[in-house]
Amino acid sequence: MSLVHYPSTSLKPHRDESLQNGHLWIFSGALQQAPSWVETGGVLDVKSSTGQFVARGYYNSATDIAIRILTHNEDEDIDAEFVRRRIRRACELRAVFDPAQTNAYRLINSEGDGLPGLVVDRYADTLVMQIHTAGMEQMRPLVLEALLQETGAQGILLRNDGTARRREGLFTEEPQVVAGEVPKQIPVRENGVQFVIDVWNGQKTGFFIDQRDKRAALQKYAPGKRVLNCFSYTGGFSVYAALTSPETRVTSVDVSAPAIKAARENFTLNGLDPQEHAFETADVFDYLEQLRQDGELFDIVVLDPPAFAKTLGVRTHALKAYRRLNTLGMQVLRPGGILLTCSCSGVIGMDDILGAISTSAQRLHRSVQLLEAYTHGVDHPINLAMPETSYLKAVFTRVE
Ligand code: SAH
Repeated sequence: MSLVHYPSTSLKPHRDESLQNGHLWIFSGALQQAPSWVETGGVLDVKSSTGQFVARGYYNSATDIAIRILTHNEDEDIDAEFVRRRIRRACELRAVFDPAQTNAYRLINSEGDGLPGLVVDRYADTLVMQIHTAGMEQMRPLVLEALLQETGAQGILLRNDGTARRREGLFTEEPQVVAGEVPKQIPVRENGVQFVIDVWNGQKTGFFIDQRDKRAALQKYAPGKRVLNCFSYTGGFSVYAALTSPETRVTSVDVSAPAIKAARENFTLNGLDPQEHAFETADVFDYLEQLRQDGELFDIVVLDPPAFAKTLGVRTHALKAYRRLNTLGMQVLRPGGILLTCSCSGVIGMDDILGAISTSAQRLHRSVQLLEAYTHGVDHPINLAMPETSYLKAVFTRVE
């Protein structure tokens, strides 16, 4: 039995179906009336138009997603124990990682772990936390307490510097230590490969941990090959590829000079000589065009661009950019070479990506075999009732 009496709000008729299926969002248009009696971020009960309990979540009047659901169980209070149970359940899933091999992973994946608005990445003994919603901000003290109890972390860095917070009426903040101590640079292992993570200044929380399984998958194609890693960031795919054989040669390209510098350092960290590989600080589109003009060919090309489309409105534009990028990538790929195409745009689906690859190949009169298709790693679970929270697509193809 719930011990707390929560304020409540009612849905319009027939608006409870997706919630009953496990969806965690309620758009403002589904409510009979905006619950002005609930403060921003406050917890409330959602009732059907006939007055039945449907779910319990937190409210924000400032956003389209007015309510994010925390539980469908009327007896479950939103308290310290609730947060602890959710965090414990998330930790249990991550027991799949052998810390001797992999100690960098997403510990809490927001809706996918039943904690909407909360992202926590683990880098060795440090946690990096992001809070995206007003409701989760209210729960911050409970979250911190539970994380420290459940994870044994030595320090927690709060990185609330993402602009997505503005949609919730929240300010962006400078990175701040909210528990223990947080080093400037953190050495981690991923499938036994070593990386140093700059959790303070790096993109996202410092590393693209959602590419772990794709990096490992790349290795089987890479021994002795000439690899071009476009949008390399700190060299994730590059280091994995280079480690497969002393004959493998990798070119890493990224527009960010600090990322390219870190990529070199990550090579050295793994006993690889950066002098035997190439590192380019450049715009990938310009660089690929130059390579094409120079007649350069690679055995493997990796394309892992930033999200071209963050909203549906720019979808058409983004699809065009994916086609252009894949065409450019194929033009520097030798016949029979392997292309790894990734997209982290939520509004671009797997079919869109396959379509972009297919169209690019047709333009160049080349044929494509689909070899492998991936989404996120196991540490980025997706609530099946909410496919829209899935964002990453990655496909390996062979292009004749
Ligand atoms: N593959 C990387 C992650 C890529 S994230 C990994 O495994 O870690 C996207 C990267 O693209 C970022 O590092 C960003 O700096 C870079 N980037 C964005 N636009 C670019 C452009 N036009 N040319 C080159 N790099 C770009």
